[in-house]
Amino acid sequence: MQWFQRVKRGLDTQPKKALPDGVWVKCDQCSEIIYNKELHRNLHVCNKCGHHFRMNSNGYIQLIADDNSFKEFNSNIRSVDQLKFKDSKKYSDRLKDAMEKTGISEAVRTGRCSVKEINAVLAVMDFSFIGGSMGSVVGEKIARAVDVALEEKWPLMIVSASGGARMQEGALSLMQMAKTSARLARLADHGLPYISILTHPTTGGVTASFSMLGDVILAEPGALIGFAGPRVIKQTIGQDLPDGFQRSEFLLEHGFVDTIVPRKELRTILGKLLSFYTVKTETSPIGAESEYPGHQ
Ligand SMILES: [Zn+2]
Repeated sequence: MQWFQRVKRGLDTQPKKALPDGVWVKCDQCSEIIYNKELHRNLHVCNKCGHHFRMNSNGYIQLIADDNSFKEFNSNIRSVDQLKFKDSKKYSDRLKDAMEKTGISEAVRTGRCSVKEINAVLAVMDFSFIGGSMGSVVGEKIARAVDVALEEKWPLMIVSASGGARMQEGALSLMQMAKTSARLARLADHGLPYISILTHPTTGGVTASFSMLGDVILAEPGALIGFAGPRVIKQTIGQDLPDGFQRSEFLLEHGFVDTIVPRKELRTILGKLLSFYTVKTETSPIGAESEYPGHQ
């Protein structure tokens, strides 16, 4: 005897409405679904848990520099595939693709700007360009940014975001660590301040050079900051790593970072630091020689 009969075959479900790509974003930390425009308005910080999403160089320039004050220099320097390197694709193609995808020419952008009306040189790395890796051009642009700071007698700020040295340039990329460090030593000799801002992630060669050489080192909350990755360290020392290892908060506790600055407060803090280090007078422009007695 048949007690029931299925009148319809299968469940009558509504077809899933496809959302246009990139309208909603899921927070990596609290899984909150956030409207992308809202996230953008909130400087790419989750409203619910404060998780800092990655932000590109444009975002940082807009955040830090006074309106329309950023004047980029050396934007025309391009990387060269010296080693004719090929992994899953040719380095030259990788560069071309990165330029097309990001609309910028390298993993760092440098320029003159003002912050709260104080002149400064600003360099901002961009992780979206081959993982913010440091090759010859990144090193050269950082070195030249230091030169401009020396020439103008202005403070220097560098926002770091990098996976490390650019392996496609082999030893040439490693040499950038010495080059940028040596140039920053000159800045220090001339008594000019350098403020380093570490964002997620700051790892490898940049951590081993200019990123950790700041007179003041600021870090964004929860950023991964380290030289080798946690997995490599764990394998090497054969021990479990402590909770929160290599995160901003851990580094602050251990003295590697001076303070943690939420993105919303970054501009205000930078303005305060710059005004602390520079003396504005009626007669001398900002950064005039008299302000830096150490300068020869
Ligand atoms: Zn969240």
